[in-house]
Amino acid sequence: MSLLDDVTRLREEASKLIDSAETVEALDDLQITYLGRKGAVTAILKGLKDLPVDQRKEAGAQANKARAFLEAKIKTAREKLSVPQARSVFDPTLPGTGNRVGVRHIITQTINDICRIFHGMGFEIARGPDVETDYYNFEGLNFPPDHPARDMQDTFFVEHGRLLRTHTTPVQVRELERRKPPIKIITPGKCFRNEAISTRAHVAFHQVDGFLIDEGVTLADLKGTMVAFCKAYFGEDVKLKFRPSFFPFTEPSAEVDISCILCGGKGCRVCKQTGWLEILGCGMIDPNVLKASGHDPEKYTGFAFGTGVERPAMLKHKINDIRLFFDNDIRFLRQFG
Ligand SMILES: [Zn+2]
Repeated sequence: MSLLDDVTRLREEASKLIDSAETVEALDDLQITYLGRKGAVTAILKGLKDLPVDQRKEAGAQANKARAFLEAKIKTAREKLSVPQARSVFDPTLPGTGNRVGVRHIITQTINDICRIFHGMGFEIARGPDVETDYYNFEGLNFPPDHPARDMQDTFFVEHGRLLRTHTTPVQVRELERRKPPIKIITPGKCFRNEAISTRAHVAFHQVDGFLIDEGVTLADLKGTMVAFCKAYFGEDVKLKFRPSFFPFTEPSAEVDISCILCGGKGCRVCKQTGWLEILGCGMIDPNVLKASGHDPEKYTGFAFGTGVERPAMLKHKINDIRLFFDNDIRFLRQFG
């Protein structure tokens, strides 16, 4: 029975070595050591003829089984080791994955673009609180008590009679209180109105308002400033149209339309076939606003204007849904890097 024991021992020993072999070369060596012409298993098979006949059959069967087992095992191990181990090999020639650099939000970029243009014309930037009092948001800006903008439908009121500002013009009142003309200021920031959210309207949005107060400021200065801004932001070819309008804090007031930057004025879906796009509101500051903050309207005159941020950004970048600005979808935001 000692030969059978030898077969079992060799089979176990070889099996373990095959499992731990790390290279094809090591497997080749094992093949020779155990299964080669002078190998250990082969030697057993050769020794079978010396056994008594009654033991020969059993031992022969076991030895052949062991050889077939080890041959198959080596074959499998060799195939496994022959597959390229890409993950374990560092290849310095492969392209890197890289680190993606963040970008400013498209709204921030648009505010910066607008501010840069006015800054170039000598305007300073001023900011104010998002939560305002009725005085700064409405009363100081000459809103009559029954003005529709005071309606609960439009304004978010918060505790202690305060409200979320519905425009950035309150900063104008705050700055007028603490400065003396000449004053040239723009006021970028967030505004809030209680509106139904849709592709074109949101409860939160951004504005850049501005105003200029000095001696002898005329409507011509307002018009020239608006033309200079629109050409700088939308392009030299853009045409402007001033339509009479109404704002409580300016008199006279106008809304400015620009020739549609998408169709060049021919008429398209975005401009509703008119060839024009409403882009900002403006006017000469109402004497009552100057008086309320202690400035002599006989001595000083000024103009004010305000533009949204989302709408110019939507037109310039062909964005069709205002909600995209606030969804924080990285696939949308990274387009503006
Ligand atoms: Zn158009």
